[in-house]
Amino acid sequence: MSRFWSPVVHDLTPYVPGEQPKLAKLVKLNTNENPYPPSPRVVEAIRAELGEDGDRLKLYSDPTGAQLKAAVARHFDVPDDWVFVGNSSDEVLAHTFQALLKHDAPLLFPDITYSFYPVYCGLYDIDFEAVPLDAQFAIQVDDYIARGADRVGAVIFPNPNAPTGRLLPLADIARVATALPDAPIVIDEAYVDFGGLDVIPTAVALIRRHPNILVTQTLSKSRSLAGLRVGFAIGQPELIQALTRVKDSFNSYPLDRLALVGASAAMDDEAWFHTTRRQVIASRNALSASLSGLGFEVLPSAANFVFARHPTRDAAALAAALRERSIIVRHFKAARIEQFLRITVGTDAQCALLVDALKDILA
Ligand SMILES: *Cc1c(COP(=O)(O)O)cnc(C)c1O
Repeated sequence: MSRFWSPVVHDLTPYVPGEQPKLAKLVKLNTNENPYPPSPRVVEAIRAELGEDGDRLKLYSDPTGAQLKAAVARHFDVPDDWVFVGNSSDEVLAHTFQALLKHDAPLLFPDITYSFYPVYCGLYDIDFEAVPLDAQFAIQVDDYIARGADRVGAVIFPNPNAPTGRLLPLADIARVATALPDAPIVIDEAYVDFGGLDVIPTAVALIRRHPNILVTQTLSKSRSLAGLRVGFAIGQPELIQALTRVKDSFNSYPLDRLALVGASAAMDDEAWFHTTRRQVIASRNALSASLSGLGFEVLPSAANFVFARHPTRDAAALAAALRERSIIVRHFKAARIEQFLRITVGTDAQCALLVDALKDILA
């Protein structure tokens, strides 16, 4: 509290990100980073942009991010003006909350979901209602539709949901978008690239027929670039223009030169992308099986993490015991999920260390 603060600052409840410990040697399975490095082409592109002496850094970056928009558009086979790019998907989401999700009727999102959503609502003074997940921690779109089209301002949820990892079928997303035609429906696909081996179940497939669907994605997870801070949104130009208006009222150059070339190279390296995401999917399925073998209840995950609870052992105690063994996982002290651990899928070697440590702790 300070008399120097704007009044709105007193009322904020900021998001608390997962810990980024300084210690090396930790098995870090707490913030859903990719265990593999990014495409080598990312490093090449950044080196080329830096040149001998970094001379180009004296010039502003492209305010429109045209090169990256074109790379994203190529990947999804959509027109360039259906793409918005930003400095992380958290920034893209922040602009989305301000540009598209504040209406007279409340914004709806699940009771258990990405905990940044209520934070943005606080920042932008958006009225929201949490819609409970069902007993299996799944989203039931009928609960959203049943509110009635004139009583829903907008809808947002991650797919797969976080931190449950559960995937909602595209048919359900199409159904909610059809039933609430005047409400923007935002699908936060931070993890969707881990949702299928051959076919990625992205709602980008729906946006031609549904002008109210906006999809957001990040390069932080499936493209191993959490440290570069790049995200994007895809939707019809009417939605994209709203985001651009907010962005150009906030920061004209959100992406720096290195991020623009590095992210473009990552989007273009399809082979690296598919190899690494398939490896993570294989490791996730093996990890889920191992945890089930240890007696954990593991929710079906379509993400690069698993969400699991032990029938008798306290989750906070398990997290603390893992920590003593230099393994960190995420535990949320929130209603309904306080007995779950969210465990990022690491390399097979990291997953083996985790499973061995849990065996030891449970013995
Ligand atoms: C990680 C994550 C993001 C944020 O990604 P950044 O691009 O790193 O900001 C957004 N939504 C969900 C659900 C996430 O888990």
